[in-house]
Amino acid sequence: MATKTKKVSSRSGGKKIADSTAVLAQLASDFGPLDDVEMNDRLEVVLFGILIERLTIEQANHAMREYRANFVDWNEVRISSPEELQDAVKDAEDPLEVATAVKAFLNRLFYEQHHVGLGFLDERNTTEIKSFFKKSATLTEATSIFLLERIREYPALPVSALTMPFIERMGWAQPDSTPLKKQKEAFAFFERDQMLPAFVYLMHHARSVCTPEPDSMQCPTCSIKALCPFPKKVAAKKKTAAKKTTKVAAKATKKKAAKKKAAKKKS
Ligand code: SF4
Repeated sequence: MATKTKKVSSRSGGKKIADSTAVLAQLASDFGPLDDVEMNDRLEVVLFGILIERLTIEQANHAMREYRANFVDWNEVRISSPEELQDAVKDAEDPLEVATAVKAFLNRLFYEQHHVGLGFLDERNTTEIKSFFKKSATLTEATSIFLLERIREYPALPVSALTMPFIERMGWAQPDSTPLKKQKEAFAFFERDQMLPAFVYLMHHARSVCTPEPDSMQCPTCSIKALCPFPKKVAAKKKTAAKKTTKVAAKATKKKAAKKKAAKKKS
């Protein structure tokens, strides 16, 4: 795990912010190491992204190894049927969906570029690259940002709609910023060599614990709750709201008593 050297204050504008390095270290212990992740070229970066968005680290690594070992190249993976491809992901919740997603991306590449590779990205600017990936329903923006950071040093954290609420709760992005601004704000809290762990662990944590929907968040059992400013923020808000309610109630009681007194005086 990288050691954070970037100087980031634990407070910004009075708001508490989680220590990104400590968060990644804890999530690494929850979800397992990334030492075995192998991505030989930019196509494999994207394919790993498609897999990791659906699988555990171990399952994604296993699938990459199986595809490399049992097929001549990624074009052979493309021309194989989803039924043949699902063997490599048989432990997934929905192996056929994962296999279909891999095949769909490879097919799109082939039909649009007449080649199964991403070398053509060299001639595209960042906006064009983003828009190319946006049209692929099988992967999220986090994967395209992850690739852009690797090939262009694009200064944004690889997060998407799933992980945006999490980075806000950690204090790394402002709730009222645009998604792009949030990705850039959060990037400031990480080192470049923390992009892979950030990409993988934040996604896994948001998928299983810090869900986008507040109703399914699991704060009481969350492994990083001691590092997270969000529960304290919620508690402080509740306290303020309770104080306000008590004040209003006291005021109403006082008013009622004064009214009663005035009525008694009149009679
Ligand atoms: S403590 Fe709650 S808000 Fe914080 S990371 Fe965990 S689940 Fe998310």
